[in-house]
Amino acid sequence: MSTRPCRVEIRTQAVEHNYRFLQRLAAPDADLLAIVKADAYGHSLALCAPAAVRAGARWLGVTSVEEGIAARAVCPGADTRVLVIGGVFPGQGGAVMQHHLTVVAWEPWQLDELRAAASAAGALPGSVPVHLEIDTGMSRQGASPEALAALFTWFAPASPLRLEGVMTHLFAPDEAGGQVTAEQLALLNQILGRIASAGLFAEWLSVGNSAALLAGQARTIGDLAATHGMKAMLRPGLALYGLVPRFNPDFDQEPAALVAARAALQPVLSWKSAVVGVRAVPAGAVVGYNGTFVATEPMRLALVALGYADGLDRKLGNRFSLLVRGERAPVVGRISMDQSVLDVTEISGVEAGDEVVILGTQGSGCITAFDHADATGTIPWEVFTRIGQRVRRVAV
Ligand SMILES: *Cc1c(COP(=O)(O)O)cnc(C)c1O
Repeated sequence: MSTRPCRVEIRTQAVEHNYRFLQRLAAPDADLLAIVKADAYGHSLALCAPAAVRAGARWLGVTSVEEGIAARAVCPGADTRVLVIGGVFPGQGGAVMQHHLTVVAWEPWQLDELRAAASAAGALPGSVPVHLEIDTGMSRQGASPEALAALFTWFAPASPLRLEGVMTHLFAPDEAGGQVTAEQLALLNQILGRIASAGLFAEWLSVGNSAALLAGQARTIGDLAATHGMKAMLRPGLALYGLVPRFNPDFDQEPAALVAARAALQPVLSWKSAVVGVRAVPAGAVVGYNGTFVATEPMRLALVALGYADGLDRKLGNRFSLLVRGERAPVVGRISMDQSVLDVTEISGVEAGDEVVILGTQGSGCITAFDHADATGTIPWEVFTRIGQRVRRVAV
């Protein structure tokens, strides 16, 4: 059956290309974990996770056990590791064991859940890997440095749990001065010393997102890991999908990794719909709910199969434009749940069935996730993850 034309096109080859580029950037200092949480930032886990694995990814990062099960279903290979970064919830330990997921934990009750599930599954001592998250300053998830020592007992020699990784999240790697990051890494260094003093050893040190990688932090993080006999892992998300995060303030001189990324990364996602019909209206005609747009002259209006239920931010009504026949056509009136109206008076020949590009390129025109984000006061991550579930993702 053919379907409503509102769709997202995913270039899986761009995911592969971006992963390989980022891995080269990180080497030899660090390995990568490919972030595919939130349905691969709205890009489709089912399409993007296997693409990352084809490009060489050994680690996939998801938010929840549910997402981990979905990732495992599309990447069943025994050498693909799936890291659940948002923790485990009560009753989920059995699924962690069954689907060979690896959990990031920091609360005693999470470790209890995992240990009980591991014991119930008859796991041998030290056979279930766990990554411990440390809060080095973000005050979000992760054990505080004070709470840490109490967690070591879950990794005693007889425990089925093994401390495989130590993880922290940098909360301002996009601040070009880098002072905040330097302080977080200094605290992390101290904490790693305490973990070693407690007689524990973790193989992986997992730190840093796209901005950290593109700011050239793989070397710093790799050096820190090496000091403690560990291997470094960085966790890019946005860059895997082809976007370069913004830095604030801009660098006086951009790090080499950032310059290279701007040239190399390829956008993965295009969001498209189509014109349903075109009508001519006289001056004075009102458009959409509450008539917030009034035709100033005789105009031609195109109805598009696209609304806020598809993820187009309703705040863009009367404030944004989309691409038709390679030109920008203003969105006029309020955006409805399922439909929008474009002013195509200035664009000749528009007719039913014409492609409308919401995000991506058409002819010489281009609309980026930053364009959407800037128009609504948000960030590309939110623009991508708001694209509605009912919008089909198709590989191209
Ligand atoms: C989402 C996430 C990332 C990826 O961040 P990007 O800025 O998209 O690269 C990395 N680490 C953690 C813990 C995350 O939650």
